[in-house]
Amino acid sequence: MIEEKGTISVSTENIFPIIKKFLYSDHEIFLRELVSNAIDATQKLKRLSSIGEYQGELGDLKVIVRLDTEAKTITISDEGIGMTAEEIKKYINQIAFSGATEFVEKYKDKFDEKQIIGHFGLGFYSAFMVAEKVVIRTKSYQANTQAAQWTCEGNTSFSIETIEKEQRGTDIILHISEESSEFLDKSKIQQILEKYGKFLPIAVEFEDKIINNTNPLWTKNPNDLKDEDYINFYKELYPFAEEPLFWIHLNVDYPFNLTGVLYFPKIKSNLDIQKEKIQLYSRQVFITDEVKGIVPEFLMLMHGIIDSPDIPLNVSRSYLQADGNVKKITSYITRKVGDKLTDLFKSDRAIYEKKWESIGLFVKYGIISEEKFYEKAQHFALLKNTQGEYFTFEEYKTKVAPLQTDKNNRLVWLYTTDTGKQDLYIQSALKKGYDVLAMEDAMIDNHFIGALERKLENTSLKRVDADTIDKIIETEIQAESILSQEKQDKLKEIFKNIINDAQVSIELSALSPDDSPVMLTIPEFMRRMREMASGMQAFLAQMNDPSTLTINTNHALMEKVLGSDEATQKAIVQQLYDLALLSQNLLSGEKLTSFIQRTTQMI
Ligand code: ADP
Repeated sequence: MIEEKGTISVSTENIFPIIKKFLYSDHEIFLRELVSNAIDATQKLKRLSSIGEYQGELGDLKVIVRLDTEAKTITISDEGIGMTAEEIKKYINQIAFSGATEFVEKYKDKFDEKQIIGHFGLGFYSAFMVAEKVVIRTKSYQANTQAAQWTCEGNTSFSIETIEKEQRGTDIILHISEESSEFLDKSKIQQILEKYGKFLPIAVEFEDKIINNTNPLWTKNPNDLKDEDYINFYKELYPFAEEPLFWIHLNVDYPFNLTGVLYFPKIKSNLDIQKEKIQLYSRQVFITDEVKGIVPEFLMLMHGIIDSPDIPLNVSRSYLQADGNVKKITSYITRKVGDKLTDLFKSDRAIYEKKWESIGLFVKYGIISEEKFYEKAQHFALLKNTQGEYFTFEEYKTKVAPLQTDKNNRLVWLYTTDTGKQDLYIQSALKKGYDVLAMEDAMIDNHFIGALERKLENTSLKRVDADTIDKIIETEIQAESILSQEKQDKLKEIFKNIINDAQVSIELSALSPDDSPVMLTIPEFMRRMREMASGMQAFLAQMNDPSTLTINTNHALMEKVLGSDEATQKAIVQQLYDLALLSQNLLSGEKLTSFIQRTTQMI
């Protein structure tokens, strides 16, 4: 017997068609919304019970999702607080409906912005994305109230009638529309429930199985947890990943609410890096794994969970970045990560060094991108030299200051980007007692070097092959050349004529007799310019970098060059030049072929 018929008061008559079309790309959200409502109603009842407002039996408080493929319905049932007919009118007809209307009004011009759609719950009315008819059967927890049924067929009229219902709580019955029949599939529902509901705080049953862990690790007190618990939870989240290096348990109430656990994954190579491994939850309901704007960019390399009801989800990305709470959350996470790394560094340096290969990537990335992070990171960031030794910035300054301070009192840090290819240069630096840093991570070290130069005072970083070793760190001490000035001029002339390349400038230097006879170098500045432009591949292929060929006037071969006939001179100079090119990996094609032939003949 129908007791009342009425019209939902609307300003937008066509809201239902809009709801249906509007959220098309993300319409699985309806299940998240309805299950969340059922959980809320259950938690409210628990709270009322705990303060004595509700005296009845709570019973087994679970939420059940049922699929009936024959009747073409999905039913979400709870044993929560339920609603009286009056409450339905108030909460469903007025409040929820005006919420949905407001939402549609606000975003109807932004149909294609999936990001907004995905992050804004339409609440109860999202049911109409998939259902042609929705029935609510509900009985309030309050004594002496009548159970009620509300029916709405996706238009602005509804009906409410009284019904017989024994059990306290609410059943939401969705009659799935023809276009949405994909949701009448067991595995589809299973998959949606697992995506959004894996950690819901009240048990959710589907197909006789509980699908969720109601008490996930991040909601527990860190003092009650062992390493093992964190590792097991990590495995639960990422079954195929290797064990994490370490983790941070986030837990704040004020001035915003944030819980969660973030893991540092083990990274063996750049190929391993997987961003988008952080999942954002709001009160244990999965929201999204796109956390850009919430987590600082450099920490996106971490894995884990952030749960905060204070992150606004109904806004665009740019708005999110400007949001006060989000900013606080970002700086909180950055600080926690800094503290954790400080602890690790201080408590066991040896272990920290072992993990540096993975940690280093975060730290360098952080130093490059976050000023605030650098303040802490400068004390625990490590530099590794070609001998495999590690130093903090402070330690390194002290180590290299005595020998690597140039005549202008600037500290010069030497580095190599490839210990294999630049070995010749590394060896001549080491022979001088200099130290060489290994900066071999092509992806990040370039930027890291730039950041270091900006941050460190009075310090330059130079790649070990940027110049001959006496020029790379210019000191007051000038080695004497054993050749007379006249001979030096003549030598330069010989090389110039034979090499005959305008891009190669010839210089003389009085190096040690056991240094290489000639050395080819590409100035630091030129090389960095080239690296910066490395996107312009085609252009570069034609570009012939200017380089410098330095002749070691103290090498025994130079006297020989000067004393030889023209043909021998030519042979020696050509051979030396090719060797210099070879040591810079610049000998290829025709030049390489003729070098090999010439060398074979000589032998
Ligand atoms: P929200 O949950 O954001 O308040 P909804 O549109 O999802 O908005 O729901 C509107 C209101 O309807 C809820 O605030 C609640 O009072 C009531 N409601 C919805 N689902 C249930 C339920 N399963 N049990 C009891 N009340 C419910």
